[in-house]
Amino acid sequence: MEGFANPITQIQRHMQFIKIIFKNYSLPIEGAVILSNPSAIIANHPKSVPIFHVSGLQSHIQTLFDKYPTPILTNEQLTRFVQLIRAQHQPQEILPRIDTSRFRHGVLCPKCRYKNQMHFYRGGWKCLACHYTSSGIFAEALQDYRLLVSRTITNSQLRAFFGITSSDAANRLLRKFQFPSTGTYKNRIYYLPDNLIEYMKPFL
Ligand SMILES: [Zn+2]
Repeated sequence: MEGFANPITQIQRHMQFIKIIFKNYSLPIEGAVILSNPSAIIANHPKSVPIFHVSGLQSHIQTLFDKYPTPILTNEQLTRFVQLIRAQHQPQEILPRIDTSRFRHGVLCPKCRYKNQMHFYRGGWKCLACHYTSSGIFAEALQDYRLLVSRTITNSQLRAFFGITSSDAANRLLRKFQFPSTGTYKNRIYYLPDNLIEYMKPFL
């Protein structure tokens, strides 16, 4: 058996936080500790907060409906409320500290299970092992670069990481996607948007 950090104080902290966010709504705040791992054993616990496996969620919600039978918000208020919650959801982006020598660089061939680096050829990418060609694959590779290396890229970083020899070709490739950028030609820094694959689609 393995204990884990006190989920009761955690849920109390979360409820306090929710109360602050929704202070303009007179809503009851209900908390519960819900275990997603079905084999987790719920041992002795205080009765102040419900604790149950995820399979019990539906019946718990039904209990809450029974407890609060009268609607508190109108549909319009509810819509605004949902928008408020969604606006609050801003996941923090964490860049992993993995030495770049520990993973494969470049545009990797999906047909070769990402084992071979594809070569830049006439604005697209070609695998010399299986001859697969694609220009769209670059979005996937650049997304990996963004997640593993940096949120920004320069011409020389692009050439080094993706094995492009020509500075002009790298420049054309970067400009093609109209990334937000700062600086002048040689020192220009391109900012890679977080929804990179979607962002790049219309330009491919
Ligand atoms: Zn291949």
